[in-house]
Amino acid sequence: MGGRLLPTGKCFCGCGLDAAVGKFFLSSHDRKAEAAVIALVYGSVAAFLVAHGYGPGRRNAHLERERAQNRPAGSSKRSIPPKSAGTTTPGYRNPNDQVVVRKTDLPGTDHLQKIYVLRCERPEHARGRAREYGANGSDIHLRRCPTCQGGREGLNHYK
Ligand SMILES: [Zn+2]
Ligand SMILES: [Zn+2]
Repeated sequence: MGGRLLPTGKCFCGCGLDAAVGKFFLSSHDRKAEAAVIALVYGSVAAFLVAHGYGPGRRNAHLERERAQNRPAGSSKRSIPPKSAGTTTPGYRNPNDQVVVRKTDLPGTDHLQKIYVLRCERPEHARGRAREYGANGSDIHLRRCPTCQGGREGLNHYK
C-alpha cells in the first residue's frame, strides 16, 4: 500500500476497457467498483459508515466533509465564535453568569444606550424568582443579578 496512484490507461475497476487519458475510470465505473468493495468488505453502506465511526449518534460525514473543505489550512477543528461577538450578542455570558437574551428598542438610562434583556443563570438563583431583567448595553459585561447577586435594580424592559 501507499504511494501515489496513477492512471494506467485501463479502467481501474477491472472491466478491461480503456479509460480516457488521465482518468482512472469510465463514467460511473468508480461508483460501481466502490459499491462492490463496500458490499464485499462491510456488507452494506451502513456497516461501512459505522465501521469508520460515522452514522446516527456518531460522526456526521456531511458535516465533516463540509468542514474539511471550508477549513483554511492550519485552523483548528472546533468552531470558535468569532472574536467580534461582543457583549451585546445574544448568548453572551458575563463573568457573573448573566446571559444576554435579546435587544429591545427601549432606550436605556445611559447616553444612546438600548435596553437589553439579561437572564441570570446562576445555579444559586432561587426558583420562582424572576431571572430576566433589563440592562444598558454598556453595563452587560459587569452586570450582576438584581435578585441574587445584589446588582442594581433591573431596567423595565416591558412596554
Ligand atoms: Zn470499468
Ligand atoms: Zn440571579
